[in-house]
Parts: sequence; structure tokens; C-alpha cells
Amino acid sequence: MAILPIVIAPDPRLKQVCAPVARVDDQVRRLMDDMLETMYAAPGIGLAAPQVGVLQRVIVLDAAPDKADPQPYRMANPELVWVSDQDCNAEEGCLSLPDYFGDVVRPADIRVRYLDHEGEIRETAAGGLLATCIQHEMDHLEGILFVDHMSALKRNMILRKLLKAKKAGLLPATQPAAVS
Ligand SMILES: [Zn+2]
Repeated sequence: MAILPIVIAPDPRLKQVCAPVARVDDQVRRLMDDMLETMYAAPGIGLAAPQVGVLQRVIVLDAAPDKADPQPYRMANPELVWVSDQDCNAEEGCLSLPDYFGDVVRPADIRVRYLDHEGEIRETAAGGLLATCIQHEMDHLEGILFVDHMSALKRNMILRKLLKAKKAGLLPATQPAAVS
């Protein structure tokens, strides 16, 4: 496994719609494992493939409250098959927007269908932090960041500050875009 460099916003790779995974093969499994290691090292509770510069529909998560009892999820091609009418308003952050947080309203409970690391179709019901996290990571696959749910004024302020910090060398420089 390897810790991968995380793409920091603003970056065009974070604004793309990602391609579905044709099948979960060894390459996808390695990507999932590397993403989990990168997420745990950050530390974070979720990571989407475009955040490591791979424009594929792969996300990993672990929203377990006790870090001593990890509950990792590896999901390819996740889709929501049900969302609750009830919304919840939760504060979100993102490894691609370090040190910024904001409230986002999303459905409180969801059901997600995905391919697991063995290529098996699975369905998971989620609420609370896990539901928020899954929806946040799935947004990344559509090129949507949590700040896109906020007002343009707030969003632009955050993105401008990040750009400034990147230019000043205070954040990791943008990694070169993948060739493929
Ligand atoms: Zn994020």
C-alpha cells in the first residue's frame, strides 16, 4: 500500500465527472487500499478517487467513532437507491480544502448500492455521520465540493484563500495531472 498525494482545491481534476469502473480488478483493489491508507494517514473519514487524481468512481470511508475498531468501506460505482425525506444539517470538511468547514444540508438517511472490493454488489443503509460522509464522497465523483453547497460568496472566499496559500507554498503544490 502507498500514501498518495492529495489534490488540493482549486484544481480542475476536482471538477470532473468521474468514469464508472468497468470491473473491480487488482488495479482498482490497489487503488482502494492506497486510498484507505492515505485517508487514515491524513487523517480523514472519507476519500474519493479524484482527490488522489484518479477520475474513477471509487470512494473509501471509515466513519467509525472508535479508531481502535475500524470499519472501512471500499465502494466502486456507488449510487443512492433511497434517501429519506428528512434532512440533516451537518458541518463538513474536506481533505482537498484543508482547514475549512461549513454546514451542508443533505438527506439524513440513505441506502447506497455499490461494488465492493471483490466486485460483489452490495447495499448499505446509513444514517448520521456515515450517511453525510457517503454523500460528500459521492459528490466528488460528480465534480462537486462541499463548498458548492454554500453561497457563492463563501465558496469564492475559501477557494481564493486556498489558491493564495498554494501560491505562497503554504499548501502542497498541485500535483501534475495524470497523463491518462
Ligand atoms: Zn471531500
